[in-house]
Amino acid sequence: DPIVREAIARAPSTAVSRYPGVYATDLKCAIAEYHGVAPDNVVTGCGSDDIIDSAIRAFADAGDAVAYPTPTFGMIPIFTRMNTCVPRPVALRDEFQLDVEAMLRTGGSINYVCNPNNPTGTPLNLNDILRLECEAAGITLLDEAYADYAAENFGARAVATEKLIVLRTFSKAFGLAGMRVGYALANATIAREIEKSRGPYKVGGIAESAALAVLTTGLARVRRSIEQTVENRERLAARLADLGFVVAPSAANFLLIAVPGAPAAAWAAALGRRDIGVRPFTGIPGMGDSIRVTVGPWPIMETFLSALRAIAAEFQATRSVGA
Ligand code: PMP
Repeated sequence: DPIVREAIARAPSTAVSRYPGVYATDLKCAIAEYHGVAPDNVVTGCGSDDIIDSAIRAFADAGDAVAYPTPTFGMIPIFTRMNTCVPRPVALRDEFQLDVEAMLRTGGSINYVCNPNNPTGTPLNLNDILRLECEAAGITLLDEAYADYAAENFGARAVATEKLIVLRTFSKAFGLAGMRVGYALANATIAREIEKSRGPYKVGGIAESAALAVLTTGLARVRRSIEQTVENRERLAARLADLGFVVAPSAANFLLIAVPGAPAAAWAAALGRRDIGVRPFTGIPGMGDSIRVTVGPWPIMETFLSALRAIAAEFQATRSVGA
């Protein structure tokens, strides 16, 4: 994005030689304005990974349970263990919806949920999230990394309760994954606790300038890119269905596709040989071996579709797929 390039080129030399603000106040104010909340409802961090880690540290003691649906974002059990807490995976029910009762039964100090979910892309039922938040003793950590591509989000709700933290990132729709900027929206008391356990100087000056540029002058471009991604996602899902592939209904910027006839790793390797990077998953409930593909510009998706058909033929999965 030229707007980001220019912001980086124009950043003062002190952005390199001096420490940035302790908690990236300018960025916090811009994020607050973007979401229509107060700056003290915002916590920034080195990617939303950093906020997940800090929030677990802030709200779970050693040995406490951290509940999360499975499958979900693979870093959750890792951050849980890194903070000496106990991972409590709870299988998603049919159609990748939350098993709220089972999550409540874990007694987790933290209930992590991701909406739309990674790696399935599927949207969760908002009433289930609400029930979890209201009925659990612990705090609900709602990861909205992909919510920019979805119809609904809970950003506004987070500031009104002390039991919900909403996580957002500049890495996906805002196109700044390399800058490492994420944030949480929460009630001011909760936000302060996350910030205390986060530590100072987590957002570098150049990264802050880049994020500020996108949030101010770059928003129209971000919105266009989201629209394009959603359009391509629907088009790609329809084409895959025509070819006979089972695809999880996605509200994110990727699709999870069941791959018959050979293990997911073999499909991923075959695509890799054609310079197409996808992530393989095994044992997805109701889908089995699957690959996750990020939605990109349409010509690239055409290349992906041709490669999939060729590989389906190679693996003789053609009886069910692309026949
Ligand atoms: N949450 C989810 C669901 C993700 O998929 C990712 C990126 N892999 C993250 C959080 C972390 O993103 P970042 O640290 O780049 O903000």
